[in-house]
Amino acid sequence: MTETVANNFIRRIIDTDLENNKNQGKVATRFPPEPNGYLHIGHAKSICLNFALAKDYNGTCNLRFDDTNPEKEDMEYIESIINTVRWLGFDWEDRLYYASDYFETMYELALKLIKSGKAYVCDLTPEEIREYRGTLTAPGKNSPYRNRSIEENLDLFSRMRAGEFADGSKSLRAKIDMASPNMNMRDPIIYRIRTATHPRTGDKWCIYPMYDYAHGLSDSLENITHSICTLEFEDHRPLYDWFLDELQMPCHSQQIEFARLNLNYTIMSKRVLLALVQKNLVSSWSDPRLPTLEGMRRRGVPPEAIRNFCDMIGVSKQNSVIDLGVLEECIRDYLNQHAKRVLAVLKPLKIVIENFPEDKTEELDAALHPQDPTFGSRKIPFTRELYIEQDDFMEEPTKGFFRLTIGKEVRLRYAYFIKCHEIIKNPATGEIIELRCTYDPETRGGKAPDGRKVKGTIHWVSAPKSLAAEVRLYDRLFTEPNPAIKKDADYAAIINPDSLITLTNCRVEPGLANAKIDDRLQFERLGYFCLDFDANEQKLVFNRTVSLRDTWGKIKIS
Ligand code: ATP
Ligand code: MG
Repeated sequence: MTETVANNFIRRIIDTDLENNKNQGKVATRFPPEPNGYLHIGHAKSICLNFALAKDYNGTCNLRFDDTNPEKEDMEYIESIINTVRWLGFDWEDRLYYASDYFETMYELALKLIKSGKAYVCDLTPEEIREYRGTLTAPGKNSPYRNRSIEENLDLFSRMRAGEFADGSKSLRAKIDMASPNMNMRDPIIYRIRTATHPRTGDKWCIYPMYDYAHGLSDSLENITHSICTLEFEDHRPLYDWFLDELQMPCHSQQIEFARLNLNYTIMSKRVLLALVQKNLVSSWSDPRLPTLEGMRRRGVPPEAIRNFCDMIGVSKQNSVIDLGVLEECIRDYLNQHAKRVLAVLKPLKIVIENFPEDKTEELDAALHPQDPTFGSRKIPFTRELYIEQDDFMEEPTKGFFRLTIGKEVRLRYAYFIKCHEIIKNPATGEIIELRCTYDPETRGGKAPDGRKVKGTIHWVSAPKSLAAEVRLYDRLFTEPNPAIKKDADYAAIINPDSLITLTNCRVEPGLANAKIDDRLQFERLGYFCLDFDANEQKLVFNRTVSLRDTWGKIKIS
Protein backbone atom coordinates (compact mmCIF):
# COMPACT_ATOMS: atom_id res chain seq x y z
CA MET A 1 0.00 0.00 0.00
CA THR A 2 1.30 3.45 -0.86
CA GLU A 3 1.01 5.80 2.01
CA THR A 4 -0.04 9.37 1.53
CA VAL A 5 2.03 12.36 2.47
CA ALA A 6 -0.55 13.14 5.12
CA ASN A 7 -0.19 9.73 6.72
CA ASN A 8 2.94 7.69 6.27
CA PHE A 9 5.51 5.71 8.19
CA ILE A 10 7.76 8.72 8.66
CA ARG A 11 4.96 10.61 10.35
CA ARG A 12 4.35 7.68 12.64
CA ILE A 13 8.01 7.70 13.67
CA ILE A 14 7.81 11.42 14.35
CA ASP A 15 4.55 11.03 16.28
CA THR A 16 6.17 8.43 18.52
CA ASP A 17 9.21 10.66 19.02
CA LEU A 18 6.96 13.53 20.02
CA GLU A 19 5.02 11.33 22.45
CA ASN A 20 8.32 10.41 24.07
CA ASN A 21 9.44 14.03 24.06
CA LYS A 22 12.49 13.07 22.05
CA ASN A 23 14.38 16.15 20.75
CA GLN A 24 12.42 18.28 23.27
CA GLY A 25 9.40 17.95 21.03
CA LYS A 26 11.10 19.62 18.07
CA VAL A 27 11.04 18.60 14.42
CA ALA A 28 13.82 19.83 12.16
CA THR A 29 14.40 18.49 8.64
CA ARG A 30 16.57 19.53 5.72
CA PHE A 31 16.81 19.16 1.99
CA PRO A 32 20.45 18.39 1.18
CA PRO A 33 21.23 18.60 -2.56
CA GLU A 34 24.68 18.12 -3.93
CA PRO A 35 25.31 21.02 -6.32
CA ASN A 36 26.51 18.77 -9.13
CA GLY A 37 23.52 19.21 -11.42
CA TYR A 38 20.03 20.62 -11.66
CA LEU A 39 17.16 19.37 -9.54
CA HIS A 40 14.72 16.89 -11.02
CA ILE A 41 11.24 15.67 -10.20
CA GLY A 42 12.74 13.04 -7.87
CA HIS A 43 14.25 15.81 -5.80
CA ALA A 44 10.82 17.44 -5.71
CA LYS A 45 9.53 14.39 -3.86
CA SER A 46 12.19 14.88 -1.21
CA ILE A 47 11.69 18.65 -1.07
CA CYS A 48 7.91 18.33 -0.68
CA LEU A 49 8.30 15.68 2.00
CA ASN A 50 10.88 17.54 4.08
CA PHE A 51 9.16 20.91 3.91
CA ALA A 52 5.72 19.38 4.55
CA LEU A 53 6.94 17.59 7.66
CA ALA A 54 8.46 20.80 8.98
CA LYS A 55 5.30 22.77 8.31
CA ASP A 56 2.88 20.22 9.73
CA TYR A 57 4.89 19.69 12.92
CA ASN A 58 5.58 23.37 13.46
CA GLY A 59 9.23 22.73 12.81
CA THR A 60 11.85 23.95 10.40
CA CYS A 61 13.39 22.73 7.15
CA ASN A 62 16.86 23.87 6.10
CA LEU A 63 18.25 24.07 2.61
CA ARG A 64 21.74 22.66 2.82
CA PHE A 65 24.19 22.15 0.02
CA ASP A 66 26.15 18.98 0.37
CA ASP A 67 29.18 20.47 -1.35
CA THR A 68 31.97 18.05 -0.54
CA ASN A 69 32.92 17.01 -4.10
CA PRO A 70 34.64 20.08 -5.56
CA GLU A 71 35.43 18.62 -8.98
CA LYS A 72 31.80 18.05 -9.85
CA GLU A 73 30.23 21.07 -8.23
CA ASP A 74 29.55 24.50 -9.56
CA MET A 75 28.02 27.86 -8.61
CA GLU A 76 25.69 27.54 -11.62
CA TYR A 77 24.11 24.53 -9.94
CA ILE A 78 23.88 26.25 -6.57
CA GLU A 79 22.02 29.19 -8.11
CA SER A 80 19.69 26.98 -10.09
CA ILE A 81 18.84 24.88 -7.02
CA ILE A 82 18.09 27.93 -4.89
CA ASN A 83 15.77 29.36 -7.56
CA THR A 84 14.08 26.05 -8.15
CA VAL A 85 13.25 25.26 -4.52
CA ARG A 86 11.81 28.75 -4.20
CA TRP A 87 9.83 28.31 -7.43
CA LEU A 88 8.40 25.05 -6.12
CA GLY A 89 6.97 27.16 -3.33
CA PHE A 90 9.16 26.50 -0.32
CA ASP A 91 10.89 28.86 2.06
CA TRP A 92 13.89 28.03 4.20
CA GLU A 93 13.87 31.55 5.67
CA ASP A 94 17.40 32.34 6.87
CA ARG A 95 18.47 28.71 7.04
CA LEU A 96 20.58 28.32 3.92
CA TYR A 97 23.63 26.24 4.79
CA TYR A 98 26.59 24.61 3.12
CA ALA A 99 28.50 21.55 4.31
CA SER A 100 31.60 23.53 3.33
CA ASP A 101 30.76 25.99 6.14
CA TYR A 102 31.59 23.15 8.52
CA PHE A 103 34.91 22.06 6.99
CA GLU A 104 36.91 23.50 9.88
CA THR A 105 34.65 21.89 12.49
CA MET A 106 34.70 18.59 10.62
CA TYR A 107 38.48 18.71 10.59
CA GLU A 108 38.54 19.30 14.35
CA LEU A 109 36.17 16.40 14.86
CA ALA A 110 38.42 14.17 12.74
CA LEU A 111 41.28 15.09 15.05
CA LYS A 112 39.07 14.01 17.92
CA LEU A 113 38.50 10.62 16.27
CA ILE A 114 42.25 10.19 15.77
CA LYS A 115 42.92 11.10 19.40
CA SER A 116 40.45 8.51 20.61
CA GLY A 117 42.14 5.88 18.45
CA LYS A 118 39.16 5.65 16.10
CA ALA A 119 40.79 6.92 12.92
CA TYR A 120 44.10 6.44 11.17
CA VAL A 121 46.01 7.69 8.17
CA CYS A 122 46.32 4.96 5.57
CA ASP A 123 48.85 4.89 2.73
CA LEU A 124 47.10 2.27 0.64
CA THR A 125 46.09 3.50 -2.81
CA PRO A 126 42.37 3.58 -3.65
CA GLU A 127 42.81 0.33 -5.63
CA GLU A 128 44.55 -1.38 -2.73
CA ILE A 129 41.86 -0.21 -0.35
CA ARG A 130 39.31 -1.81 -2.62
CA GLU A 131 41.28 -5.08 -2.67
CA TYR A 132 41.70 -5.12 1.10
CA ARG A 133 38.02 -4.49 1.57
CA GLY A 134 36.98 -8.05 0.79
CA THR A 135 33.62 -8.94 -0.67
CA LEU A 136 30.09 -9.55 0.54
CA THR A 137 31.08 -13.15 1.26
CA ALA A 138 34.72 -12.71 2.31
CA PRO A 139 35.95 -10.50 5.14
CA GLY A 140 38.43 -7.72 4.44
CA LYS A 141 42.04 -7.49 5.59
CA ASN A 142 43.42 -4.92 7.97
CA SER A 143 45.48 -2.19 6.39
CA PRO A 144 49.18 -2.42 7.30
CA TYR A 145 48.87 1.22 8.48
CA ARG A 146 45.99 0.52 10.83
CA ASN A 147 48.05 0.53 13.99
CA ARG A 148 49.94 3.77 13.56
CA SER A 149 50.33 5.70 16.78
CA ILE A 150 48.00 8.56 17.56
CA GLU A 151 50.95 10.99 17.32
CA GLU A 152 51.95 9.75 13.89
CA ASN A 153 48.33 9.92 12.70
CA LEU A 154 47.93 13.48 13.98
CA ASP A 155 51.15 14.50 12.28
CA LEU A 156 50.29 12.86 8.97
CA PHE A 157 46.74 14.17 8.96
CA SER A 158 47.87 17.76 9.54
CA ARG A 159 50.39 17.31 6.73
CA MET A 160 47.65 15.96 4.48
CA ARG A 161 45.80 19.18 5.12
CA ALA A 162 48.95 21.21 4.48
CA GLY A 163 49.20 19.74 0.99
CA GLU A 164 52.35 17.67 1.45
CA PHE A 165 50.97 14.57 -0.23
CA ALA A 166 49.69 13.76 -3.68
CA ASP A 167 46.05 13.00 -4.43
CA GLY A 168 45.22 9.41 -3.63
CA SER A 169 48.47 8.73 -1.80
CA LYS A 170 46.92 8.85 1.66
CA SER A 171 43.51 8.91 3.27
CA LEU A 172 42.07 9.16 6.74
CA ARG A 173 40.03 6.09 7.63
CA ALA A 174 37.72 5.17 10.47
CA LYS A 175 38.98 2.23 12.50
CA ILE A 176 35.91 0.03 12.77
CA ASP A 177 35.89 -3.59 11.63
CA MET A 178 37.35 -5.07 8.45
CA ALA A 179 35.27 -8.20 8.98
CA SER A 180 31.94 -6.44 9.40
CA PRO A 181 29.16 -8.01 7.35
CA ASN A 182 28.28 -4.42 6.41
CA MET A 183 30.86 -3.32 3.85
CA ASN A 184 30.33 0.31 4.80
CA MET A 185 31.79 -0.46 8.23
CA ARG A 186 35.08 -1.86 6.90
CA ASP A 187 37.28 1.07 7.84
CA PRO A 188 35.56 3.57 5.53
CA ILE A 189 37.45 6.58 4.24
CA ILE A 190 36.71 9.79 6.12
CA TYR A 191 38.98 12.20 4.24
CA ARG A 192 40.67 12.02 0.89
CA ILE A 193 43.21 14.30 -0.75
CA ARG A 194 41.84 16.25 -3.72
CA THR A 195 43.84 19.13 -5.11
CA ALA A 196 40.79 20.87 -6.48
CA THR A 197 39.31 24.34 -6.31
CA HIS A 198 36.04 24.35 -4.44
CA PRO A 199 33.25 26.64 -5.69
CA ARG A 200 32.97 28.24 -2.26
CA THR A 201 36.16 27.61 -0.30
CA GLY A 202 38.45 28.02 -3.30
CA ASP A 203 41.91 26.57 -2.67
CA LYS A 204 41.70 26.67 1.09
CA TRP A 205 41.40 22.90 1.35
CA CYS A 206 43.05 20.01 -0.41
CA ILE A 207 41.42 17.36 1.77
CA TYR A 208 37.69 16.82 1.56
CA PRO A 209 35.39 14.80 3.84
CA MET A 210 33.45 11.85 2.45
CA TYR A 211 29.67 11.90 2.21
CA ASP A 212 28.98 9.53 5.12
CA TYR A 213 31.09 11.55 7.49
CA ALA A 214 30.07 15.01 6.28
CA HIS A 215 26.38 14.30 6.02
CA GLY A 216 25.71 13.09 9.55
CA LEU A 217 27.89 15.78 11.06
CA SER A 218 26.14 18.51 9.06
CA ASP A 219 22.79 17.14 10.25
CA SER A 220 23.95 17.10 13.83
CA LEU A 221 25.52 20.56 13.70
CA GLU A 222 22.22 21.92 12.40
CA ASN A 223 20.23 20.04 15.08
CA ILE A 224 18.33 18.12 12.45
CA THR A 225 16.00 15.71 14.26
CA HIS A 226 14.91 13.57 11.31
CA SER A 227 17.35 13.14 8.43
CA ILE A 228 15.35 11.74 5.56
CA CYS A 229 17.15 10.12 2.66
CA THR A 230 16.55 7.52 -0.03
CA LEU A 231 16.68 3.75 0.46
CA GLU A 232 20.15 3.17 -0.91
CA PHE A 233 21.49 4.77 2.26
CA GLU A 234 19.89 2.20 4.53
CA ASP A 235 23.17 0.24 4.72
CA HIS A 236 25.00 3.44 5.55
CA ARG A 237 22.91 4.12 8.63
CA PRO A 238 25.16 2.15 11.02
CA LEU A 239 28.06 4.32 9.88
CA TYR A 240 26.00 7.48 10.19
CA ASP A 241 25.24 6.47 13.78
CA TRP A 242 28.81 5.36 14.47
CA PHE A 243 30.24 8.80 13.70
CA LEU A 244 27.66 10.60 15.82
CA ASP A 245 28.14 8.16 18.72
CA GLU A 246 31.94 8.10 18.63
CA LEU A 247 32.09 11.88 18.46
CA GLN A 248 29.46 12.17 21.21
CA MET A 249 27.64 14.76 19.18
CA PRO A 250 25.08 16.62 21.30
CA CYS A 251 22.39 16.11 18.65
CA HIS A 252 22.00 12.57 17.37
CA SER A 253 19.94 13.03 14.23
CA GLN A 254 17.92 10.04 13.14
CA GLN A 255 18.31 8.83 9.58
CA ILE A 256 15.09 7.56 7.97
CA GLU A 257 15.01 6.10 4.47
CA PHE A 258 12.20 6.17 1.92
CA ALA A 259 11.85 4.92 -1.66
CA ARG A 260 13.06 7.26 -4.35
CA LEU A 261 10.80 8.34 -7.16
CA ASN A 262 11.32 6.63 -10.50
CA LEU A 263 9.33 7.52 -13.60
CA ASN A 264 9.22 5.46 -16.76
CA TYR A 265 10.47 6.71 -20.15
CA THR A 266 12.84 9.14 -18.50
CA ILE A 267 15.93 9.17 -16.35
CA MET A 268 16.61 10.66 -12.94
CA SER A 269 20.35 10.17 -12.53
CA LYS A 270 22.23 13.46 -12.56
CA ARG A 271 25.22 11.70 -14.07
CA VAL A 272 23.16 10.62 -17.07
CA LEU A 273 21.37 13.96 -17.32
CA LEU A 274 24.75 15.70 -17.43
CA ALA A 275 25.89 13.33 -20.18
CA LEU A 276 22.75 14.09 -22.24
CA VAL A 277 23.51 17.81 -21.93
CA GLN A 278 27.21 17.42 -22.70
CA LYS A 279 26.57 15.26 -25.75
CA ASN A 280 23.98 17.77 -27.01
CA LEU A 281 21.30 15.10 -27.02
CA VAL A 282 19.17 17.74 -25.33
CA SER A 283 19.56 21.52 -25.57
CA SER A 284 20.45 22.17 -21.92
CA TRP A 285 19.54 21.21 -18.36
CA SER A 286 16.31 23.15 -18.90
CA ASP A 287 15.32 21.28 -22.06
CA PRO A 288 11.53 20.86 -21.69
CA ARG A 289 11.84 17.13 -22.40
CA LEU A 290 13.91 16.53 -19.28
CA PRO A 291 12.50 15.65 -15.87
CA THR A 292 14.54 18.51 -14.42
CA LEU A 293 12.42 21.03 -12.57
CA GLU A 294 13.85 23.81 -14.75
CA GLY A 295 12.89 21.81 -17.82
CA MET A 296 9.40 21.19 -16.50
CA ARG A 297 9.03 24.83 -15.56
CA ARG A 298 10.02 25.90 -19.04
CA ARG A 299 7.57 23.41 -20.49
CA GLY A 300 4.82 25.11 -18.51
CA VAL A 301 4.31 22.68 -15.64
CA PRO A 302 2.98 24.66 -12.68
CA PRO A 303 4.70 24.07 -9.34
CA GLU A 304 1.29 23.33 -7.81
CA ALA A 305 0.89 20.36 -10.16
CA ILE A 306 4.26 19.00 -9.09
CA ARG A 307 3.33 19.37 -5.44
CA ASN A 308 0.00 17.64 -6.07
CA PHE A 309 1.81 14.82 -7.84
CA CYS A 310 4.21 14.38 -4.91
CA ASP A 311 1.24 14.27 -2.53
CA MET A 312 -0.51 11.74 -4.66
CA ILE A 313 2.35 9.29 -5.08
CA GLY A 314 2.99 9.33 -1.35
CA VAL A 315 5.91 7.98 0.62
CA SER A 316 6.84 4.37 1.18
CA LYS A 317 9.72 1.99 1.60
CA GLN A 318 8.89 0.06 -1.57
CA ASN A 319 10.82 0.95 -4.70
CA SER A 320 8.55 1.33 -7.71
CA VAL A 321 8.30 2.95 -11.10
CA ILE A 322 5.52 5.46 -11.58
CA ASP A 323 3.92 5.80 -14.98
CA LEU A 324 4.61 9.15 -16.62
CA GLY A 325 0.86 9.30 -17.28
CA VAL A 326 0.25 9.83 -13.56
CA LEU A 327 2.35 12.99 -13.60
CA GLU A 328 0.63 14.16 -16.77
CA GLU A 329 -2.80 13.65 -15.18
CA CYS A 330 -1.78 15.84 -12.25
CA ILE A 331 -0.64 18.51 -14.68
CA ARG A 332 -3.89 18.29 -16.66
CA ASP A 333 -5.99 18.41 -13.52
CA TYR A 334 -4.36 21.59 -12.41
CA LEU A 335 -4.28 23.26 -15.80
CA ASN A 336 -7.86 22.32 -16.56
CA GLN A 337 -8.88 24.50 -13.64
CA HIS A 338 -6.36 27.27 -14.12
CA ALA A 339 -5.61 27.68 -17.81
CA LYS A 340 -7.21 30.38 -19.96
CA ARG A 341 -8.80 29.00 -23.12
CA VAL A 342 -7.57 30.55 -26.34
CA LEU A 343 -7.60 29.65 -30.03
CA ALA A 344 -4.61 28.65 -32.10
CA VAL A 345 -4.13 26.71 -35.31
CA LEU A 346 -1.04 24.54 -35.54
CA LYS A 347 -1.27 23.44 -39.20
CA PRO A 348 -3.23 26.16 -40.94
CA LEU A 349 -5.52 25.74 -43.89
CA LYS A 350 -6.99 28.94 -45.31
CA ILE A 351 -10.73 29.24 -45.72
CA VAL A 352 -12.58 32.09 -47.35
CA ILE A 353 -16.10 32.97 -46.20
CA GLU A 354 -17.45 34.21 -49.48
CA ASN A 355 -20.58 35.87 -48.11
CA PHE A 356 -18.66 37.83 -45.47
CA PRO A 357 -17.62 41.34 -46.51
CA GLU A 358 -13.99 41.85 -47.40
CA ASP A 359 -13.12 44.78 -45.19
CA LYS A 360 -15.22 43.84 -42.23
CA THR A 361 -13.96 42.61 -38.85
CA GLU A 362 -16.46 41.37 -36.34
CA GLU A 363 -15.44 41.15 -32.71
CA LEU A 364 -16.92 38.04 -31.16
CA ASP A 365 -17.24 37.30 -27.50
CA ALA A 366 -15.39 34.20 -26.27
CA ALA A 367 -15.27 32.86 -22.72
CA LEU A 368 -11.79 32.40 -21.26
CA HIS A 369 -12.94 29.33 -19.33
CA PRO A 370 -16.14 27.51 -20.24
CA GLN A 371 -16.76 26.17 -16.71
CA ASP A 372 -15.51 29.10 -14.69
CA PRO A 373 -17.17 32.46 -15.36
CA THR A 374 -14.72 34.26 -13.06
CA PHE A 375 -12.16 34.04 -15.88
CA GLY A 376 -14.30 36.44 -17.92
CA SER A 377 -14.11 36.67 -21.69
CA ARG A 378 -12.22 38.32 -24.51
CA LYS A 379 -13.05 39.51 -28.03
CA ILE A 380 -11.78 37.57 -31.02
CA PRO A 381 -11.83 38.97 -34.55
CA PHE A 382 -13.84 37.23 -37.26
CA THR A 383 -12.90 38.07 -40.83
CA ARG A 384 -13.55 36.87 -44.37
CA GLU A 385 -10.34 34.88 -44.44
CA LEU A 386 -9.72 32.44 -41.64
CA TYR A 387 -7.44 29.56 -40.81
CA ILE A 388 -8.63 26.20 -39.61
CA GLU A 389 -6.63 23.09 -38.84
CA GLN A 390 -5.70 21.02 -41.92
CA ASP A 391 -6.84 17.92 -40.04
CA ASP A 392 -10.30 19.38 -39.56
CA PHE A 393 -11.12 19.04 -43.25
CA MET A 394 -11.53 15.87 -45.23
CA GLU A 395 -12.36 15.84 -48.89
CA GLU A 396 -13.65 12.31 -48.60
CA PRO A 397 -14.71 11.95 -44.99
CA THR A 398 -14.22 8.65 -43.26
CA LYS A 399 -17.02 7.20 -41.18
CA GLY A 400 -17.50 9.18 -37.98
CA PHE A 401 -15.75 12.28 -39.27
CA PHE A 402 -17.94 15.16 -38.16
CA ARG A 403 -15.70 18.05 -38.97
CA LEU A 404 -15.57 20.09 -42.16
CA THR A 405 -16.25 18.45 -45.48
CA ILE A 406 -17.98 19.46 -48.67
CA GLY A 407 -21.63 20.35 -48.18
CA LYS A 408 -21.94 19.64 -44.41
CA GLU A 409 -22.31 22.34 -41.82
CA VAL A 410 -19.95 22.71 -38.86
CA ARG A 411 -19.72 25.25 -36.10
CA LEU A 412 -16.74 27.54 -35.79
CA ARG A 413 -16.14 27.84 -32.06
CA TYR A 414 -17.67 31.03 -30.60
CA ALA A 415 -18.63 32.13 -34.13
CA TYR A 416 -20.96 30.81 -36.83
CA PHE A 417 -22.06 27.75 -38.72
CA ILE A 418 -20.21 27.44 -41.98
CA LYS A 419 -20.49 25.20 -45.02
CA CYS A 420 -17.80 24.41 -47.57
CA HIS A 421 -18.63 24.24 -51.26
CA GLU A 422 -15.32 24.33 -53.08
CA ILE A 423 -11.80 23.04 -52.69
CA ILE A 424 -8.87 24.86 -54.25
CA LYS A 425 -5.79 22.77 -54.88
CA ASN A 426 -2.29 23.49 -55.92
CA PRO A 427 -2.43 22.31 -59.54
CA ALA A 428 1.12 21.03 -59.41
CA THR A 429 0.94 19.02 -56.21
CA GLY A 430 -2.74 18.41 -55.65
CA GLU A 431 -2.37 19.76 -52.12
CA ILE A 432 -5.44 21.51 -50.75
CA ILE A 433 -4.54 25.18 -50.31
CA GLU A 434 -7.86 26.87 -49.74
CA LEU A 435 -11.51 26.16 -49.06
CA ARG A 436 -14.35 28.35 -50.25
CA CYS A 437 -17.15 28.49 -47.69
CA THR A 438 -20.25 30.41 -46.71
CA TYR A 439 -21.51 31.25 -43.26
CA ASP A 440 -25.00 31.61 -41.86
CA PRO A 441 -25.18 35.11 -40.30
CA GLU A 442 -28.15 33.93 -38.20
CA THR A 443 -25.94 31.54 -36.20
CA ARG A 444 -23.77 34.07 -34.39
CA GLY A 445 -22.46 32.61 -31.13
CA GLY A 446 -22.82 29.12 -32.56
CA LYS A 447 -26.59 28.66 -32.23
CA ALA A 448 -29.16 28.41 -35.00
CA PRO A 449 -32.49 30.20 -34.35
CA ASP A 450 -34.34 27.37 -36.06
CA GLY A 451 -32.83 24.91 -33.63
CA ARG A 452 -30.91 22.90 -36.23
CA LYS A 453 -27.83 21.13 -34.93
CA VAL A 454 -24.36 20.47 -36.26
CA LYS A 455 -22.22 17.54 -35.23
CA GLY A 456 -18.82 19.18 -35.21
CA THR A 457 -17.25 22.27 -33.69
CA ILE A 458 -13.82 23.29 -34.89
CA HIS A 459 -11.38 25.99 -33.88
CA TRP A 460 -10.12 28.78 -36.11
CA VAL A 461 -8.31 32.10 -36.15
CA SER A 462 -8.62 35.15 -38.37
CA ALA A 463 -6.08 35.02 -41.20
CA PRO A 464 -5.17 38.73 -41.28
CA LYS A 465 -5.51 39.37 -37.54
CA SER A 466 -3.87 36.27 -36.09
CA LEU A 467 -0.19 36.16 -35.21
CA ALA A 468 2.49 33.85 -36.51
CA ALA A 469 4.01 31.53 -33.93
CA GLU A 470 6.33 28.61 -33.54
CA VAL A 471 4.97 25.76 -31.46
CA ARG A 472 7.00 22.95 -29.93
CA LEU A 473 5.35 19.66 -29.15
CA TYR A 474 6.96 17.24 -26.75
CA ASP A 475 6.70 13.57 -26.08
CA ARG A 476 8.47 11.18 -23.70
CA LEU A 477 12.23 11.44 -23.91
CA PHE A 478 13.05 7.78 -24.48
CA THR A 479 11.54 4.96 -26.45
CA GLU A 480 12.51 2.55 -23.64
CA PRO A 481 10.14 2.31 -20.67
CA ASN A 482 12.95 1.74 -18.22
CA PRO A 483 16.20 3.27 -19.46
CA ALA A 484 17.59 3.49 -15.93
CA ILE A 485 18.10 -0.25 -15.54
CA LYS A 486 20.40 -0.37 -18.54
CA LYS A 487 23.82 0.26 -17.16
CA ASP A 488 25.70 2.66 -19.42
CA ALA A 489 23.04 2.29 -22.05
CA ASP A 490 23.57 4.08 -25.34
CA TYR A 491 21.13 6.84 -24.56
CA ALA A 492 21.52 8.42 -27.98
CA ALA A 493 20.06 5.27 -29.52
CA ILE A 494 16.93 5.29 -27.39
CA ILE A 495 16.02 8.97 -27.58
CA ASN A 496 12.50 9.24 -28.94
CA PRO A 497 12.85 10.92 -32.36
CA ASP A 498 9.41 12.48 -31.81
CA SER A 499 10.28 13.82 -28.38
CA LEU A 500 10.44 17.29 -29.94
CA ILE A 501 8.40 18.36 -32.95
CA THR A 502 8.74 21.98 -33.99
CA LEU A 503 5.91 23.52 -35.99
CA THR A 504 6.89 26.84 -37.50
CA ASN A 505 3.76 27.99 -39.36
CA CYS A 506 1.29 28.19 -36.54
CA ARG A 507 -1.22 31.00 -36.04
CA VAL A 508 -2.55 32.21 -32.70
CA GLU A 509 -5.27 34.64 -31.74
CA PRO A 510 -4.07 38.25 -31.50
CA GLY A 511 -4.45 38.59 -27.72
CA LEU A 512 -1.46 36.27 -27.30
CA ALA A 513 0.83 39.12 -28.33
CA ASN A 514 0.81 39.92 -24.62
CA ALA A 515 1.35 36.39 -23.32
CA LYS A 516 3.65 36.13 -20.32
CA ILE A 517 6.00 33.31 -19.46
CA ASP A 518 3.88 32.24 -16.49
CA ASP A 519 0.53 32.34 -18.30
CA ARG A 520 -1.24 29.00 -18.35
CA LEU A 521 -3.01 28.52 -21.65
CA GLN A 522 -5.21 25.94 -23.21
CA PHE A 523 -5.22 26.05 -27.00
CA GLU A 524 -8.68 24.63 -27.42
CA ARG A 525 -8.71 21.05 -28.67
CA LEU A 526 -4.88 20.98 -28.80
CA GLY A 527 -3.59 20.88 -25.26
CA TYR A 528 -2.04 23.09 -22.62
CA PHE A 529 0.63 25.54 -23.68
CA CYS A 530 2.93 28.22 -22.37
CA LEU A 531 5.20 30.86 -23.81
CA ASP A 532 8.80 29.69 -24.16
CA PHE A 533 11.87 31.61 -22.98
CA ASP A 534 12.91 31.85 -26.64
CA ALA A 535 9.96 34.09 -27.48
CA ASN A 536 10.72 37.75 -28.16
CA GLU A 537 9.18 40.85 -29.77
CA GLN A 538 9.75 39.40 -33.23
CA LYS A 539 8.74 35.86 -32.63
CA LEU A 540 6.17 34.05 -30.52
CA VAL A 541 7.23 30.59 -29.36
CA PHE A 542 4.97 28.26 -27.40
CA ASN A 543 5.61 24.92 -25.71
CA ARG A 544 2.98 22.29 -25.36
CA THR A 545 3.04 21.33 -21.71
CA VAL A 546 0.76 18.35 -22.15
CA SER A 547 -1.93 17.19 -24.53
CA LEU A 548 -5.58 17.24 -23.47
CA ARG A 549 -5.78 13.50 -23.03
CA ASP A 550 -3.39 10.73 -22.26
CA THR A 551 -2.71 9.44 -25.73
CA TRP A 552 -0.34 6.64 -25.09
CA GLY A 553 -1.06 4.50 -22.20
CA LYS A 554 -3.13 3.50 -19.27
CA ILE A 555 -2.79 5.43 -16.07
CA LYS A 556 -1.52 3.34 -13.23
CA ILE A 557 0.63 3.48 -10.17
CA SER A 558 2.68 0.33 -10.02
P1 ATP B 1 22.15 11.42 -8.22
O1 ATP B 1 22.39 10.04 -7.69
O2 ATP B 1 21.43 11.47 -9.50
O3 ATP B 1 23.36 12.30 -8.21
P2 ATP B 1 21.42 12.22 -5.64
O4 ATP B 1 20.43 11.45 -4.89
O5 ATP B 1 22.83 11.95 -5.29
O6 ATP B 1 21.15 12.07 -7.18
P3 ATP B 1 21.37 14.65 -4.21
O7 ATP B 1 21.64 16.03 -4.67
O8 ATP B 1 22.32 14.04 -3.27
O9 ATP B 1 21.19 13.77 -5.50
O10 ATP B 1 19.91 14.56 -3.62
C1 ATP B 1 19.40 15.45 -2.68
C2 ATP B 1 18.27 14.81 -1.94
O11 ATP B 1 17.25 14.42 -2.83
C3 ATP B 1 18.73 13.56 -1.22
O12 ATP B 1 18.16 13.57 0.07
C4 ATP B 1 18.20 12.45 -2.06
O13 ATP B 1 17.92 11.33 -1.29
C5 ATP B 1 16.94 13.07 -2.65
N1 ATP B 1 16.63 12.45 -3.94
C6 ATP B 1 17.43 12.35 -5.01
N2 ATP B 1 16.84 11.68 -6.00
C7 ATP B 1 15.61 11.33 -5.55
C8 ATP B 1 14.51 10.61 -6.10
N3 ATP B 1 14.55 10.11 -7.33
N4 ATP B 1 13.42 10.45 -5.34
C9 ATP B 1 13.36 10.96 -4.10
N5 ATP B 1 14.36 11.64 -3.51
C10 ATP B 1 15.48 11.82 -4.22
MG1 MG C 1 23.51 12.17 -3.22
